Amino acid sequence: MHERTPSRRRIATAALVALTALAACARPAEDEPGPTADTLAAAASTAAGPVLVIHGGAGTITRAEMTAEREAAYRAALTAALETGHRVLAGGGAALDAVEATIRLLEDSPLFNAGKGAVFTAAGRNELDASIMDGATGKAGAVAGVTTVKNPITAARAVMEQTWHVLLAADGAETFAREAGLELVDPSYFFTERRWQSLQREREKEGLAPLPGPPADRSLAAEAGHGTVGALALDAAGNLAAGTSTGGLTNKRFGRVGDSPILGAGTWADRRCAASGTGQGEYFIRLTIARDVCARLEYLGLTLAEAADQVIHGALTEAGGTGGVIALDAAGNVAMPFNTEGMYRGWIGADGVAHVAIYGDES
Ligand code: ASP
Repeated sequence: MHERTPSRRRIATAALVALTALAACARPAEDEPGPTADTLAAAASTAAGPVLVIHGGAGTITRAEMTAEREAAYRAALTAALETGHRVLAGGGAALDAVEATIRLLEDSPLFNAGKGAVFTAAGRNELDASIMDGATGKAGAVAGVTTVKNPITAARAVMEQTWHVLLAADGAETFAREAGLELVDPSYFFTERRWQSLQREREKEGLAPLPGPPADRSLAAEAGHGTVGALALDAAGNLAAGTSTGGLTNKRFGRVGDSPILGAGTWADRRCAASGTGQGEYFIRLTIARDVCARLEYLGLTLAEAADQVIHGALTEAGGTGGVIALDAAGNVAMPFNTEGMYRGWIGADGVAHVAIYGDES
């Protein structure tokens, strides 16, 4: 669950990955500023090749709240997701395919607030949102408030490819997913004890009685809910794509739609830049966070690191919102700023070595 009040500014990460044979609009890597408190150069590689960037949600993620076992599970899941996407890209696959494959893996993990690990609404249900955008064509698809679609990111892609719409919601989205032959599950598939306990804690804070629930599976410790997932990819052809998937916020009103399925708010990709956000969705919608990062490159000529930093540590923080964004440009530059204690995040470049971080003091 995200903090209700803004937390202090945290260290962000920017990895510089110089690539060759890129789109004409790409800014040269030398234009990037040197490392600062908010833009640490995590790595530099001169090898040409694809890049994949992911997040697994931002929030109150501290070492004090983490067990060694849990941390290892997150790092392993993030690494597996990066390697999955990298395999697609290294095999000559499209950015869009890499984004979908990566997010599907994260949706299938109970660790993240997307797909299997989705948080509960105030009504004790799971309502999932997702979107995907193809930077090369500008096409996009999204679903909101789905309750039986196992992999909402695939439904989002199907909306993009099989309809003339961008966003389908609730029953209409479920019907479309069924007609498209996508995998549906009983809503109980999305139950995890950990997310259920998060809901009960939120209810307690509001003075409400606990909701009666399914039998407890004590294998997962109860802890704060966070873990929206996002992926950005730059393929060998120089095309970018972005995707985001979430269960939203614990204790949200039923019918509430966050930023993740809203193009421009939670997800954006164009020919220059791709971005995916995580945080208090209402702020991300009002500030059009993902599009704002990319627009600053286009309109102001900023570097990716400058643009992402201004949006998160400037606009979002000043508005009182919390969260973070991952961003990737056509030159392979990566930025991952956030204003929360931590953000599950990682990137992988041409060399296939996965870089994963969780806390604010990790580069
Ligand atoms: N942004 C998501 C939402 O508001 C939640 C999150 O990123 O944790 O639905």
